[in-house]
Amino acid sequence: MSFRIGFDVGGTNIKTGIADDDFNLVSKKTTAFSKEIGYVNTIKAMHQTVMELIAENDLNGKDISAVGIAVPGSVDVRNGVVIHAYNLDFHNVHMTEEMSRYFPGIPVTLINDANAATFAEFKTGALKGYDNAMLLTLGTGIGGGLILNGRLFNGGLGNGVEPGHVVLDRTGPLCTCGIRGCIEEFCTVRWLLQKGKPAGYTEVKDIIDAARKNEPGAVSIFNEYVENLSSAIASLTNLLDPEIIALGGGISLAGEVLYLALEEKVEQKSFFKYPYKIVPAQLGNDAGMVGAAAYAFTRGF
Ligand SMILES: [Zn+2]
Repeated sequence: MSFRIGFDVGGTNIKTGIADDDFNLVSKKTTAFSKEIGYVNTIKAMHQTVMELIAENDLNGKDISAVGIAVPGSVDVRNGVVIHAYNLDFHNVHMTEEMSRYFPGIPVTLINDANAATFAEFKTGALKGYDNAMLLTLGTGIGGGLILNGRLFNGGLGNGVEPGHVVLDRTGPLCTCGIRGCIEEFCTVRWLLQKGKPAGYTEVKDIIDAARKNEPGAVSIFNEYVENLSSAIASLTNLLDPEIIALGGGISLAGEVLYLALEEKVEQKSFFKYPYKIVPAQLGNDAGMVGAAAYAFTRGF
């Protein structure tokens, strides 16, 4: 049996997974990441984790067929270079070359983490079976990725896509990217909590639960959120006409109350007046690992 390794390197931890031929995780482990040790030692530690997982699961290192690494930031996919990953303090780092020292003869690939998550959903999750699809991850920020014509879209210059920074209101609040009124300013957890706080809600879950129970304060916040998000999604559907849109992140667990309202509004607001399918993502926190492993094996198909 051959298997592949997927790493998801984040600002505070590294997830390492071993995936089988069907991209199911056989084993996984989360270890701490500290940017102080630098990328050379980080990669050494990542390799160490793989060795531990192999030993724990009684596998043979010779059966590793590919190694994939997902990182948050801009990536030169072709050359395996992290251009800028500010959370990791990796700049112009040739990650695949360094990793290849530990896995000689095995292909090592690098991918942006949002693209990895999108690819994972495409290969084995909510986007499986669709050739034109979009993932939007609604967290503290908004990330996402695109499947176009059956392939992961890496962008014309290799930057992927930043759906969260499409402008929704040019007079809106200043975004972390320096531009006013990005989608991210209206559709994140942050927006919900900001609106919820004066009404006494401190968690997203509380707002959703209260909206379900028809508490007027929560219903009005929830409705405004759906207005924001549906406008954002409708703009993206006008551009891309995807067969399906999957939502990831904490808010995506809100259940039918969110999806029914969103589908209705997106249909109203989209040029095509089409009932676009909007569904929850399926892979949760494993998406980066699974996507990195899958991408390493298939190179984007
Ligand atoms: Zn922005």
